[in-house]
Amino acid sequence: MGKTTIQSVHASEILDSRGNPSVYVEIKTEGGASGSAMVPSGASTGKYEAYEKRDGDASRFLGKGRLCEVNAVEGEIATALLGMPVDRQSEIDALLCALDGTPNKSRLGAGAILGVSMAVSRAAASANGVELWEYLSADAKKRLPVPMMNILNGGAHADNPLDVQEFMIVPSGASSFSEGLRIGVEIYHTLKGILKKRGLSTGVGDEGGFAPQIATSEEALDLLVEAIHAAGYSEQTVKISLDVAASEWVTEGGYRLPKRGTHFSGEMLCKRIETLASAYPILSVEDPLGEDDFKGFRAITAALDGKLVVGDDLFVTNVARLREGIKACAANAILIKPNQIGTVSETQRVIALAAENGYAYIISHRSGETEDTYIADFAVAMGAPLIKTGAPCRSERVAKYNRLLLIEKMLGGNAFYGL
Ligand code: PGA
Ligand code: ZN
Repeated sequence: MGKTTIQSVHASEILDSRGNPSVYVEIKTEGGASGSAMVPSGASTGKYEAYEKRDGDASRFLGKGRLCEVNAVEGEIATALLGMPVDRQSEIDALLCALDGTPNKSRLGAGAILGVSMAVSRAAASANGVELWEYLSADAKKRLPVPMMNILNGGAHADNPLDVQEFMIVPSGASSFSEGLRIGVEIYHTLKGILKKRGLSTGVGDEGGFAPQIATSEEALDLLVEAIHAAGYSEQTVKISLDVAASEWVTEGGYRLPKRGTHFSGEMLCKRIETLASAYPILSVEDPLGEDDFKGFRAITAALDGKLVVGDDLFVTNVARLREGIKACAANAILIKPNQIGTVSETQRVIALAAENGYAYIISHRSGETEDTYIADFAVAMGAPLIKTGAPCRSERVAKYNRLLLIEKMLGGNAFYGL
């Protein structure tokens, strides 16, 4: 038995930022190292995501309990992992997938499997006496991600009339991560002042962005542009990104805006997005169409020449789906959410495939988050150009930004920042 041998695997039911049950995993080694992790949860989930298992027992948490996943970790998974060296990530992840035995991790639950996979890497980093980002680093060149800060929330993340889910500011022209973050924070507070002056609500949505009673994308984008300028910045320094999350709108024969009730064909939706993208300083558009429309994605990627078209529900961090997208020339960027696929190694594999094919990759939180800052370290380890982790508000979002500030300091000015 070596010092890195896994000695114990424990799990607990905890809460996410929406007050729904989630999963915590803690792993200890013979040598006294330990690592823990908490898993997040989405609201506008793609139908091809790995399966997040819930108890369905209506007498607890309205059926949303996670004791089934906690028991899977402490039972079958622990039995399989005890005695293994903790620093064999891909071997352990392959074992977890084989143990589950389903294509979407629905037997043991993706929360159980991801929690263990993340905790394994943390325990291994600790056993090796290095930071998580160092342990997972693929590359000696260090890069800090540009934050995509979702400062106006709509769609499934807010109870306002906005159908587009996310309006983000992206300080890509800053000279460092900390400067970019500061610029984003200043714009966020400036936007709050503008909303207040207009008598609009400054209450926030699930990702910390404001959720005022405005209905159109133009109103939202005008507010963002006004806030960028009023804070003293230009459209060269700060771009805007959208997450349409259009899978939520798919209906028989086209799209229906869930809040406003308007119907669109796929072509009309593309035209509408092209119009917005040419009228505003748009850097990227995520999920402009439904998760099955590879052909539509090809058309809009060509039409939005030079802008990033990001597949989230389209690719669900899945190598097979990204391969299909590459073949179809659908999109040119992929959103990366570890819990869409369920292990750290599979997440790393899809990033490698994206990078080989010139796709930009964006590490992302979920709308239901925890205080776990795993994705901050992961973004640095993977050399990700961008990270999506909400507004600079609500501790589960800010925790990731704070971790990146500390990593920036550890790197001592030796990190690349920018696009
Ligand atoms: P979700 O939203 O976590 O609710 O799926 C995030 C996104 O769509 O990017
Ligand atoms: Zn999305």
